[in-house]
Amino acid sequence: MRLLVVEDELKMADYLRRALEGEGHAVEEAHDGDEALARALGEPFDAIVLDLNLPRRDGLDVLRQLRAAGRPTPVLILSARGQVDDRVAGLHLGADDYLPKPFAMAELLARVQALLREAVEERPTQLVHEDLVLDVATRSATRAGVRVDLPMREYGLLELLLRCAGRTLSRAQILEHVWGYHFDPGTNLVDVYIQRLRRKIDDAHPRKLIHTVSGLGYRLGAES
Ligand code: CA
Repeated sequence: MRLLVVEDELKMADYLRRALEGEGHAVEEAHDGDEALARALGEPFDAIVLDLNLPRRDGLDVLRQLRAAGRPTPVLILSARGQVDDRVAGLHLGADDYLPKPFAMAELLARVQALLREAVEERPTQLVHEDLVLDVATRSATRAGVRVDLPMREYGLLELLLRCAGRTLSRAQILEHVWGYHFDPGTNLVDVYIQRLRRKIDDAHPRKLIHTVSGLGYRLGAES
């Protein structure tokens, strides 16, 4: 599962990331409210752990904007502000759970696990864009009803593109989400995999779905 940890205290962010990675999750960090909102809107996460006292933009406002944009990503609020009104405000704004600091890591991990379990149960099992259908349960794809075989990374790349349909993803974002790289390995890995996907998804069809956005990255969707 992909998680976003929003926390401005770097030590705490690091502590959370390591603990969640220890549970087998891929974890990204954001250290202020603006960065958190941009990432939460721009990339698919399975859950967000959100501190409230943040520089640049308050955690409650991040949550408000996220929900206003229609994103259902489960959010666990984690904050030293343990007062009842903060908790109530957070839950009213669409937070799924609330844990006051200081907290026991075991409890945090259990609550994140519970959020993810609920989210998986509610998540649609198919991602559809026009005649392209990805079945998340069986990890198989069809285009215009014809089965397309996808090895693991190609599947991961196509799933990411579909979850972010209509939005441009940079090579760095793709490397991070599909390969777990936090650095550019200095190869054209992403381009090679995009080429492979295009051969399988687009080559036999006049209507292309995977587009190069010059200087920025790649996007799945209608031509612009
Ligand atoms: Ca803080």
